[in-house]
Amino acid sequence: MYQIKTMEKLEMMECPQCGGPMPVKRRELGYHVCVNCSTVSAKRGIPVMRGTGDHTWVDLEVMTQEQFERYEEMENKTKSEITPLKNNKGNLQGPFTIVETDN
Ligand SMILES: [Zn+2]
Repeated sequence: MYQIKTMEKLEMMECPQCGGPMPVKRRELGYHVCVNCSTVSAKRGIPVMRGTGDHTWVDLEVMTQEQFERYEEMENKTKSEITPLKNNKGNLQGPFTIVETDN
Protein backbone atom coordinates (compact mmCIF):
# COMPACT_ATOMS: atom_id res chain seq x y z
CA MET A 1 0.00 0.00 0.00
CA TYR A 2 2.89 2.38 0.55
CA GLN A 3 3.74 2.03 -3.11
CA ILE A 4 0.69 4.15 -3.92
CA LYS A 5 1.92 6.68 -1.38
CA THR A 6 5.30 7.02 -3.13
CA MET A 7 3.57 7.43 -6.49
CA GLU A 8 1.55 10.33 -5.13
CA LYS A 9 4.71 12.06 -3.93
CA LEU A 10 5.99 12.46 -7.49
CA GLU A 11 3.47 14.79 -9.06
CA MET A 12 3.44 14.73 -12.83
CA MET A 13 2.66 17.38 -15.40
CA GLU A 14 2.76 17.61 -19.18
CA CYS A 15 6.06 18.41 -20.83
CA PRO A 16 5.63 21.57 -22.92
CA GLN A 17 8.01 20.25 -25.56
CA CYS A 18 6.86 16.67 -26.25
CA GLY A 19 3.62 16.46 -24.25
CA GLY A 20 4.93 13.49 -22.30
CA PRO A 21 4.78 13.11 -18.52
CA MET A 22 7.28 15.11 -16.51
CA PRO A 23 7.65 15.47 -12.73
CA VAL A 24 6.48 18.83 -11.39
CA LYS A 25 9.60 18.79 -9.21
CA ARG A 26 11.69 19.23 -12.35
CA ARG A 27 10.10 22.59 -13.05
CA GLU A 28 10.64 23.62 -9.44
CA LEU A 29 14.32 22.88 -10.04
CA GLY A 30 14.30 25.24 -13.01
CA TYR A 31 13.87 22.77 -15.86
CA HIS A 32 11.16 23.40 -18.42
CA VAL A 33 11.20 20.11 -20.28
CA CYS A 34 11.00 16.44 -19.30
CA VAL A 35 13.96 14.11 -18.77
CA ASN A 36 13.73 12.77 -22.31
CA CYS A 37 13.82 16.22 -23.88
CA SER A 38 16.64 17.46 -21.68
CA THR A 39 18.77 14.37 -22.33
CA VAL A 40 19.42 16.06 -25.65
CA SER A 41 21.18 18.82 -23.74
CA ALA A 42 23.04 16.19 -21.69
CA LYS A 43 21.01 16.17 -18.48
CA ARG A 44 20.06 13.00 -16.68
CA GLY A 45 17.40 12.36 -14.09
CA ILE A 46 17.89 9.53 -11.64
CA PRO A 47 15.07 8.42 -9.35
CA VAL A 48 16.40 8.00 -5.84
CA MET A 49 14.62 6.49 -2.85
CA ARG A 50 14.72 8.72 0.22
CA GLY A 51 13.57 8.33 3.80
CA THR A 52 13.42 5.34 6.12
CA GLY A 53 10.86 2.78 7.26
CA ASP A 54 7.42 3.46 5.82
CA HIS A 55 8.25 7.13 5.35
CA THR A 56 9.92 6.81 1.96
CA TRP A 57 9.47 8.71 -1.26
CA VAL A 58 11.02 8.81 -4.69
CA ASP A 59 13.04 11.90 -5.46
CA LEU A 60 14.47 12.91 -8.79
CA GLU A 61 18.16 13.69 -8.88
CA VAL A 62 18.99 15.78 -11.92
CA MET A 63 22.58 15.79 -13.10
CA THR A 64 24.62 16.46 -16.18
CA GLN A 65 25.86 13.65 -18.41
CA GLU A 66 29.32 14.10 -16.88
CA GLN A 67 28.01 13.83 -13.33
CA PHE A 68 25.92 10.84 -14.31
CA GLU A 69 28.95 9.00 -15.68
CA ARG A 70 30.92 9.76 -12.53
CA TYR A 71 27.98 8.52 -10.47
CA GLU A 72 27.89 5.24 -12.41
CA GLU A 73 31.65 4.89 -12.09
CA MET A 74 31.38 5.37 -8.32
CA GLU A 75 28.64 2.74 -8.12
CA ASN A 76 30.85 0.24 -9.93
CA LYS A 77 33.85 1.10 -7.79
CA THR A 78 31.88 0.56 -4.60
CA LYS A 79 30.92 -2.90 -5.78
CA SER A 80 34.41 -3.91 -6.87
CA GLU A 81 35.94 -2.79 -3.58
CA ILE A 82 34.35 -5.81 -1.92
CA THR A 83 36.81 -8.03 -3.79
CA PRO A 84 40.20 -8.83 -2.12
CA LEU A 85 41.89 -6.54 -4.66
CA LYS A 86 42.16 -4.01 -1.82
CA ASN A 87 44.73 -6.20 -0.03
CA ASN A 88 47.00 -6.25 -3.06
CA LYS A 89 46.94 -2.46 -3.12
CA GLY A 90 47.93 -2.40 0.58
CA ASN A 91 50.96 -4.56 -0.11
CA LEU A 92 52.18 -2.01 -2.61
CA GLN A 93 52.31 0.80 -0.08
CA GLY A 94 55.49 2.11 1.50
CA PRO A 95 58.80 3.47 0.25
CA PHE A 96 60.28 1.88 -2.82
CA THR A 97 63.76 1.74 -4.20
CA ILE A 98 63.90 1.30 -7.93
CA VAL A 99 67.00 -0.71 -8.73
CA GLU A 100 68.23 -0.94 -12.28
CA THR A 101 69.59 -4.30 -13.22
CA ASP A 102 71.77 -5.09 -16.22
CA ASN A 103 70.34 -8.17 -17.69
ZN1 LIG B 1 9.53 16.24 -23.19
